Amino acid sequence: MLQDGRVPHALMFTGPEGSGNLPAAFAFVQYLFCQNKQAHDSCGICSSCLKVSKLIHPDLHLVFPIPVSKSVRTSNDLLPEFREVFLETPYTTVHDWFNSLDAENKQPIIPTDEANDILKKLSYTSYEGGYKIMIIWQPEKMNASSANKLLKILEEPPEQT
Ligand SMILES: [Zn+2]
Repeated sequence: MLQDGRVPHALMFTGPEGSGNLPAAFAFVQYLFCQNKQAHDSCGICSSCLKVSKLIHPDLHLVFPIPVSKSVRTSNDLLPEFREVFLETPYTTVHDWFNSLDAENKQPIIPTDEANDILKKLSYTSYEGGYKIMIIWQPEKMNASSANKLLKILEEPPEQT
């Protein structure tokens, strides 16, 4: 897809939980952003590759299920925690993610506030002048009102999004 310049605006990586779909999605993003693309993979050493591999690339946005509370309203509120867990265990599951937060008893959800935040983030121009990427881990954890808010942008996202 990348070599033919035909990257669709939405891709779904599916499979059993913990089977590597999330690391595969990040590897795809790293290849997309790489400044020195190799024949079949990213170079792994350019500044874009390094930023993606640490999950700190400014044009790579992340959404994941959260235990909603007064202090946790969107994924942004737990981004440092998520980075730590993912970088240590790329094949992590929602169960492990919630255990690491001591939130085993809470419901993992992607709430409506998050959907509003996704729309806002994707309306900005990209920081580095290329693609803007939104990775939504476990989109099935969205409630109906979040999912409905995202229909339009899924079908007709802005350029290079
Ligand atoms: Zn690179």
